[in-house]
Amino acid sequence: MMDRIYLDHAATTAVLPEVLEAMLPYFQTFFGNPSSIHGTGREGARAVEGVRRKVAEILGAEPSEIHFTSGGTESDNWGIRGAAGACRDRGHHIVTTAIEHHAVLHTCDALEKEGFQITRLPVDPDGRVSPQSVEKAITPHTVLLSVMMANNEIGTIEPVEEIGGIAREHGVLFHTDAVQAIGALPVNVKTLNVDLLSFSAHKFHGPKGVGALYVKRGTPLHSLIQGGAQERGRRPGTENVPGIVGLGKAMEIASERMEENAGRMRMLRDRLINGVLTEIPDVRLNGHPTLRLPNNCNFSFPGVESEALLLRLDLEGIACSGGSACTSGSLDPSHVLQAIGLSRELAQGSIRMTLGPENTEEEVRTTLHTLKRIVADLRNLRGWPCRE
Ligand code: PLP
Repeated sequence: MMDRIYLDHAATTAVLPEVLEAMLPYFQTFFGNPSSIHGTGREGARAVEGVRRKVAEILGAEPSEIHFTSGGTESDNWGIRGAAGACRDRGHHIVTTAIEHHAVLHTCDALEKEGFQITRLPVDPDGRVSPQSVEKAITPHTVLLSVMMANNEIGTIEPVEEIGGIAREHGVLFHTDAVQAIGALPVNVKTLNVDLLSFSAHKFHGPKGVGALYVKRGTPLHSLIQGGAQERGRRPGTENVPGIVGLGKAMEIASERMEENAGRMRMLRDRLINGVLTEIPDVRLNGHPTLRLPNNCNFSFPGVESEALLLRLDLEGIACSGGSACTSGSLDPSHVLQAIGLSRELAQGSIRMTLGPENTEEEVRTTLHTLKRIVADLRNLRGWPCRE
């Protein structure tokens, strides 16, 4: 089998061997239900509480403020719907941006149908929302702001610290989707001034189907589901103990290795970006040139259809994606690329390559050569650029 080059780390990542090793005993040896009184159950409870303390320490939070969930989607849904519902008697207005993940945008769409008013702020051509526009959008009816830390498609880092300060000044709650930020950027709930923060283990070499929502003490929040007393009665359901243990180990490693990993990925990212921009004619880099995730590259190739490009790259063993993975089954051009002003055609000729700590310089070189050849081929096939 050929060596495959995996450049889709924003979609998901492989579980690290250390993470798997930490998880395994919790499937068979310490399989108990953390709510059980007996020793087998208590082992599970001890593990979950240990991870809660570890995660809290990494984020600058209190252990009681960390709530485990089934992943980023649930955390986003819960943070937004839970806070909006709990503040309904104070106001019915939510401010967000046009480039949030669908877990945020579709939750807001659903709340709109239920009577909330939603402001979806535009972003500049680099994908940044201006804190001034956030402040201007706040009305006496605003109860919640939701702005992501960094965008999953174009990698642009948002000014969340400033927005957190604005939220505090105006007495409105602030939620941030930090799914792409953990392991890539420093994340501290105090410096960010957030009330609610979502993240997901599979984006930083932990298992899929487990994440968490940070809820600042005293934040009004309804539960999404009803049941037992788990997670302080706020998120019922028997805990995913192996998943939570995996999340904890992955987060510990991500935080320890963040500087080293981010530095290496930034170097490879810049090589890939510079190579593509200098060696392939008529390319556009999407996202902010510098304020971007260390592992993110997003390019538009006029005269190329991303589906064809992705398939050809895949045939040659290079895995990357067009827009975000969650929308890759749909023919609609990415809402993020449209929000930064790309035409439908250009958005449909865009691909995302997201690096990981295991990628090498050799892989970047191979990717560059392969991409150059395939883009030229596809353009030739379409007779692009068309000459009159
Ligand atoms: N938010 C962002 C920014 C993401 O990139 C993703 C995953 O693609 C999610 C939320 C959803 O996370 P999960 O896959 O854990 O549900």
